[in-house]
Amino acid sequence: NTEITKEWLQSYVDDWVQFYKKETKEGKVASYIPVLKKADPNLLGITIIGKDGMMIQSGDVGTPFTIQSISKIFSFIVACMERGVSYVLDRVDVEPTGEAFNSIMHLEMRKLKKPFNPFINAGAITVTSLLNGKSSEEKLEPIFQLFTKILGYRSRINEDVYVSERETSVRNRAIGYYLIELGYLESALDLTLDTYFKQCSIEVTTEDLAKLGLVLANDGIDPQTAEEIIPRNVVRLAKALMLTCGMYDASGKFAAYVGIPAKSGVSGGIIATAPPRVRKETLPFIEGCGIGVYGPALDDKGNSIAGIKLLKHIATKWDLSVF
Ligand code: GLU
Repeated sequence: NTEITKEWLQSYVDDWVQFYKKETKEGKVASYIPVLKKADPNLLGITIIGKDGMMIQSGDVGTPFTIQSISKIFSFIVACMERGVSYVLDRVDVEPTGEAFNSIMHLEMRKLKKPFNPFINAGAITVTSLLNGKSSEEKLEPIFQLFTKILGYRSRINEDVYVSERETSVRNRAIGYYLIELGYLESALDLTLDTYFKQCSIEVTTEDLAKLGLVLANDGIDPQTAEEIIPRNVVRLAKALMLTCGMYDASGKFAAYVGIPAKSGVSGGIIATAPPRVRKETLPFIEGCGIGVYGPALDDKGNSIAGIKLLKHIATKWDLSVF
């Protein structure tokens, strides 16, 4: 019968971050580019921000990291806002694949079918090609503006990561060529890929991810200002994609065992959104909260190994599943 106070929640989260920090040892940091390999595998941090502005931070929350695949949510959102949902969904589907995020296989096997979803690279690169603008700067500007509105400062691109991504891009380039053949790319390949690598290289912190997650959790409305930042129908689609396709080819298990819309990236970040209504009345703080996690040691599916365990623990104990 503990009374739930902010202090209680803070010490609870502190205890479990310390507990799950041990699990980082079982994972490996991404090594496909040298810059990411430099990340400290022992880090684990979490930020939770509630509707009323309550913030809980614990562990290694100060370190900035690149947003990587988590950016795919926001390129999809901006493309839907610019071009309309049906235009985007005519070019990319909303079906999970069960394949690796950078799989080429289905493009070859299902010729003439659109990419399965905006979170695998084939779909994400297609979506990026739909963004308005003649340069990568122009294409990314609305994403930066959306972030500035939510985060209160203008994000920056990590140049080292961007350059490395560009220089090691054979597979994404191969996907791009397939997409040209199938007729899905609406911008030139170099421009599209350049924009994609830059969007993946935007630097964020767990606090930034929690703030972005908070707006998604609350149907696109910033609970602090009551401003609608993203239309509700677009947020609903984005969260459905997060739940079904957000955690690489472990998305089904994450939906079953954690049950909250979330998206991870290869640098070890996870963004997660709690439902606006949770069942336990003891948890007014947690309703509709946004969560940002960072833990660069990854499991064999490419998700933060300790981050997933921490989220699973918290979602179970706090009854956050949408189901
Ligand atoms: N830059 C990475 C790629 O497309 C993103 C990977 C990820 O976070 O899943 O290869």
